[in-house]
Amino acid sequence: MPGDGIGVEVIAEGRRALDRVAQVCGREFVFTDALVGWAAITATGTALPDDTIRICRDSDAIFFGAVGDPARDASLPPSRRPEPVALLGLRKGLYANLRPAILNPALVGLCPLRPELVQGGIDILIVRELTGGLYYGQPKGPHDIGGVPGAVDTMVYTVPEIERIARVGFAAAQKRSGRLCSVDKANILACSQLWREVVTRVGRDEFPDVQLSHMYVDNCAMQLIRNPGAFDVIVTENTFGDILSDEASMLAGSLGMLPSACLGDGDVTPFFEPIHGSAPDIAGKGLANPIATILTGAMLLRHALGWTVEAAAIEHAVEETLKAGYRTADIAGPGGSPISTSEMGNQILARISA
Ligand code: NAD
Repeated sequence: MPGDGIGVEVIAEGRRALDRVAQVCGREFVFTDALVGWAAITATGTALPDDTIRICRDSDAIFFGAVGDPARDASLPPSRRPEPVALLGLRKGLYANLRPAILNPALVGLCPLRPELVQGGIDILIVRELTGGLYYGQPKGPHDIGGVPGAVDTMVYTVPEIERIARVGFAAAQKRSGRLCSVDKANILACSQLWREVVTRVGRDEFPDVQLSHMYVDNCAMQLIRNPGAFDVIVTENTFGDILSDEASMLAGSLGMLPSACLGDGDVTPFFEPIHGSAPDIAGKGLANPIATILTGAMLLRHALGWTVEAAAIEHAVEETLKAGYRTADIAGPGGSPISTSEMGNQILARISA
């Protein structure tokens, strides 16, 4: 589902990379194109047509570009625009948001932190709970407090909600360095005290091989800037994850480098997208960096299909391409010689091997 703006260009490259890895690893994909976003509104009047929902339901994974076009926003009320309709519609029921923040060692110069802090690169995976907590808890809304006008939001978590996201965090840590940092605010919040208790129990009973640590969210925000290389997998609740994953994404140097995934329990199709939007300022000019989307394809292989060898083949090809010095405009730096979206795709494709 390319969607709008640069979604079209970057999904084209992501799809070529998936086709290439299938070819060299003896796999086969069946791609079904589906309309979403303004492209869908133009064709059908709605940002998430029924046909698209059906195609998603019948698929093993959704490979999504981006939606949104600020130039057309005024033509529809906010509730019918693509961002709420398509994004919220497609992510519904998916409770785990995986957001890697990777700073490739070749791009250390682009990180806003001093080079000595990030010399070895950064490779953090933030696992954010996506369906609970402060954003959805009731009561919510305007609320008179002792006759004084005010507002209220409610943070709510149940034990099963914490257990299932903890398992995603532990399983991810098991596949990486075996270290998991659970982030909460257990010194203040009742939800966080429950969170810490449940995560500790799940770790002890189900993942004794994973080394679990706990960190308060304020300290985590600081440590991500002070010593980002110390983190591997972070698991945290909805609001904290929203903020920390955006903070961590800045370490990677460009929005054009970062993939993401939303996962559920199997009855809802998992959703994979680059973290960036439709970037209308550069759309159609061949300037978009396709790496976020190509790495999103690798996440799809790993998390939706369990094809770890194929995922690693794509990630390795991206690393080698950067090591060889190829850069799109967003990561070229001053005086660099940027290549186009499709040329970056070509370079990565050429390095995908079994
Ligand atoms: P954006 O992520 O589209 O762009 C922010 C800046 O980063 C722009 O300068 C853009 O040129 C640059 N950029 C983004 N991706 C890039 C890439 N792959 N390569 C090189 N440069 C890249 O955010 P925005 O400008 O705030 O939003 C534009 C539209 O996208 C809006 O309509 C917004 O609602 C929508 N949006 C959609 C999603 C989504 O579909 N998941 C996410 C964010 C924003």
